[in-house]
Amino acid sequence: MSIAIEIAYLIASILFITGIKLLGKTKDARRGNVLSAIGMLIAIVATLLTINVLTFVEIFVCILIGGAIGLFYATRVAMTKIPEMVALFNGFGGLASFAVALSDYFLKSEISAASLDAVNLTSIILSVLIGGVTFTGSMIAYLKLDGKVSGQPITFSGQHLLNLALLIAFVITSVMVFLDPTNLILIGILVGISLLLGILTVIPIGGADMPVVISLLNSYSGMAACATGFILSNNVLIVAGSLVGASGIILTQIMCKAMNRSLTNVLLGGFGQTVATGGQDGPAIVVKEIGVEETAMLFDAASSVLVVPGYGMAVAQAQHVIRELMEQCEKRNIDFRFAIHPVAGRMPGHMNVLLAEANISYDKLIEMEAINDDFPNTDLVFIVGANDVVNPAARTNPQSPIYGMPILNADKAKTVIVSKRSMGKGYAGIENELFGYPNCLMLFGDAKQTITKVVSEMKDMS
Ligand code: NAP
Repeated sequence: MSIAIEIAYLIASILFITGIKLLGKTKDARRGNVLSAIGMLIAIVATLLTINVLTFVEIFVCILIGGAIGLFYATRVAMTKIPEMVALFNGFGGLASFAVALSDYFLKSEISAASLDAVNLTSIILSVLIGGVTFTGSMIAYLKLDGKVSGQPITFSGQHLLNLALLIAFVITSVMVFLDPTNLILIGILVGISLLLGILTVIPIGGADMPVVISLLNSYSGMAACATGFILSNNVLIVAGSLVGASGIILTQIMCKAMNRSLTNVLLGGFGQTVATGGQDGPAIVVKEIGVEETAMLFDAASSVLVVPGYGMAVAQAQHVIRELMEQCEKRNIDFRFAIHPVAGRMPGHMNVLLAEANISYDKLIEMEAINDDFPNTDLVFIVGANDVVNPAARTNPQSPIYGMPILNADKAKTVIVSKRSMGKGYAGIENELFGYPNCLMLFGDAKQTITKVVSEMKDMS
C-alpha cells in the first residue's frame, strides 16, 4: 500500500511540474491548470487513504464547509479584487502550515520529548516561523489593499532594528527549544514572535508595493508547506511546497525588475511616501480633448492600431467592447494588436487574463520587448486606462519615483488617443506628461461607455 501511495505522489508531482511549465505560455495555461488540478486530486485521494486520525465523514464535512465558503467568495469577487483574494489565500495557506506544525508538536510532546527529534523540531520551528509570518503578513496586506487600513507605509524609528531583535530572539528561543523540547512556554514565545514579525514586516510597505509583497508571501506560503511536508514526511507536500516557493520568488523578481525596484527597496518600505512628493512640481499639463465621433474617424482612417490596456480597462471591464472595436477594425483590414506591459494592471498577467476572457486570441497580445520598436510605425495607439506604463518620466525624469522602469513607447506613435475618466493619476501617484504631447488626444469618460459609443459610430459608418 505505501509503495502505491508513493507512486501516486510521484505521478502527482510530475503533473504539478508539467502543469507549472505549461502555465508559462498563455495558450497552454488552461491545459497546465487542468493537469495540476488532476495532480492535486491524485495527491488528495492518496493522502485520504493514509489518514487514520479522522473518519471519511469528518473529512468530507470539512471539505464541504471549506469548499462552500471558497465557492461563495470566488464566484462573487470582482476581477479588480483578485489581489485581495490572493492575499487571503496565501494567509490561510500559511495558517494551515502553522496549525499543522503546532498540532504535530502537541501530539508528539504528549508522547515524549524523545519523539521530537532534531529534524522534526527544525521543521516545526520553520513551519511556525514561515507560516506565522505568512498568515499575519498576508492579513495586513489584505487589509491595506482593501482600504480597511491605510495603504500608506507605517514607519517608526528603530523599526528595522526591532525586526532584527525579534529575529534574534526567535533564533535564541529555538535553540532553547532544542534543549527543552516539551517546554510549552518556549513554543508560545516562538508563536508570538512569528505572528508579530508578519505584522511588523508588512506595515512599512506602501499599498503601492502590495502586489510584490503578496507574490513574496505566496512564495513563503509554499516554503511553509514544504517545511510541513518534512514534519509529516509527505513527499508530495515537499514537492508542491517547493514549486510554490520557487515560482513565487521568481515572480517577485520579475515584478521588481519590471518596476525597476530591488526587493530590498520594496521590503524596507516607504515607496508610497516618496510618491506623495515625487514628480509633482512640473508645469500644469495642457491637454487636447477628442470626442467619440472623431475617435471613430481616426480608427476608420488608420491602417495599424496598437491598444495599450491598463488598470482602468479592468476597472471599467472594457475588454469585451474592445473586442468589438477590434472586429470593426479588422473588417476594415486594419492591423490591430495589443501591447502588453509586464506590470500593467494590478497583478502579473492581469491584462492577458481579461483579454483572454473576451476571447481575444493570444497571438494578438505582444509583450513589451517584442512590440516597443513597432510604435513609431503605428498610425494609432489607443491607451485604455493605462497611465504609469506609458509615462515618459520613467525615461526622462531622474526625480520621478518610476524613473528607470521600462515603459511602452506609446509616445512615439503618430497619433495617441487616451481613454480615461479624468486627469486622475495612476498607481505611482504621479502626473503623466504624455497627455500633453502634441500627438496625444484625450477621450475622457469611463472606458467601457466611451468605447461602446466609438464602436456604434463605426458600425454606423460602415
Ligand atoms: P495605472 O498607472 O494605475 O493607471 C490606471 C489609470 O486608469 C488611472 O490613471 C485612471 O485614470 C484610469 N481609470 C480608472 N478607472 C477607469 C475607467 N473606468 N475607465 C477609464 N480609465 C480608468 O495603470 P497601469 O498603467 O496599468 O500601471 C500599473 C501600475 O501598477 C504600475 O505603476 C505598476 O508598477 C503597478 N503595479 C502593477 C503590478 C502588476 O503586477 N501588474 C504589481 C505592482 C504594481 P482616471 O482616474 O482619470 O480614470
